[in-house]
Amino acid sequence: MSSSRSTMVIAHVFRGTFVHSTQSSALDVLDDTLLGVDTLGKIAFIGRGTDVDRLCEKYGFHVRDVTQLRQHEFFMPGMVDTHIHASQYSYAGTALDLPLLQWLNTYTFPVEARYKDLEFARKVYTQVVRRTLRNGTTTASYFATIHTDASLLLGQIANEFGQRALVGKVCMDRNDAVKHYKETPEESLDETNRFIRELLENKYPLVMPVVTPRFAPSCSPALLSHLGEIAQNNHLHIQSHISETKEEVQMVKELFPDSESYTDVYLKHNLLTDKTVMAHGCHLSDEELKLFRETGASIAHCPNSNISLCSGFLDVRNVLNRKVKLGLGTDVAGGYSPSMLDAVRKTLDTSKALTIKDSEHQTLSFQEVFRLATLGGSQALSMDEHTGNFEVGKDFDALRVNLAAEEGPVDIFQREEPLVLLEKFLNLGDDRNIAEVYVAGRRVVPFPG
Ligand SMILES: [Zn+2]
Repeated sequence: MSSSRSTMVIAHVFRGTFVHSTQSSALDVLDDTLLGVDTLGKIAFIGRGTDVDRLCEKYGFHVRDVTQLRQHEFFMPGMVDTHIHASQYSYAGTALDLPLLQWLNTYTFPVEARYKDLEFARKVYTQVVRRTLRNGTTTASYFATIHTDASLLLGQIANEFGQRALVGKVCMDRNDAVKHYKETPEESLDETNRFIRELLENKYPLVMPVVTPRFAPSCSPALLSHLGEIAQNNHLHIQSHISETKEEVQMVKELFPDSESYTDVYLKHNLLTDKTVMAHGCHLSDEELKLFRETGASIAHCPNSNISLCSGFLDVRNVLNRKVKLGLGTDVAGGYSPSMLDAVRKTLDTSKALTIKDSEHQTLSFQEVFRLATLGGSQALSMDEHTGNFEVGKDFDALRVNLAAEEGPVDIFQREEPLVLLEKFLNLGDDRNIAEVYVAGRRVVPFPG
């Protein structure tokens, strides 16, 4: 008879309440649960708290090594920001008075042009990684700028702080608004190839390059085609924007007269794959959503940005009904908040606004939006094999939430059920309630030292 004792080495064991989502359930509450993480950062076991003696024996740890969560504490999966412009963080919270195309020309391009300066880049990129991590973003899909060295620096900083990240050097060979902020097609391809090569050479365990055409209006058809090839040849993720505003949809129609739709532009250039995430999609037709489903491409819903720039409302219910993968994004700085909790709230607000407009609209529940912020985001980024919820074998990406944090923003009046604690956290909580953040089993918040 073989021994039942496991050979894996356990690094942490936690006992308490865990809340997460699964494919079949938007919210699963695991009461008095024991969860073990191995030295590789993966979830080694999930068992009943009352089974502690047997699990100690099987996995070779001692009861005194178990971390017991306190009352009003729970673990939830880390949140996934499927769309954020790290380079725009310097002006987050300002410049929200113009529609998209004017906003880009007036505020965005002049700021992004500054990232030639690596010291400026280091300052902003360090702050955005720290700020998002401390607010519970364990995975982020970042847009940087057209500058390769600054984009590589963003990858280095995410790696140093231990955040899981996709990092994109932005590609754009069309831009008449700001003189020096565009590339020639050759530069864009050469620098994209250099960016991918150098980032991969660093062998950061949690940071990967993502092919990033800014959006169709700022790229020539030739550049889009080449970027599609680069993504295909290197099996890389792709990110861009689509159908954010009606004016932009009209512009794409004029720039790409041979394409049947905005989605068709990306499809034709091999940029719509099962590793593609497109931000916004407020004005996509149902036919276009069908192309998303068929290719496995996903949508990053960025409701703060959609409201702040008066872009439109995405009907998330319709997208989900059409079986298109969808995650949430902050879209800093079109969205003014870097916190995924804000993305959760604005997603609920947008869904309720749609219900106000049409009482037949089926409002999203907070449980569903919780799933979109966690498992949904990891699915949208095709990372759900490794992260997104608590399953044995997945990486332990988790937030230790304490609703009763001293000096925190939430008042608790009695012993509450986990469901109540979660809803209060999503609606009222902030980083003061996030006691610890783990990415791939490593505690990254509080920051070391
Ligand atoms: Zn964006």
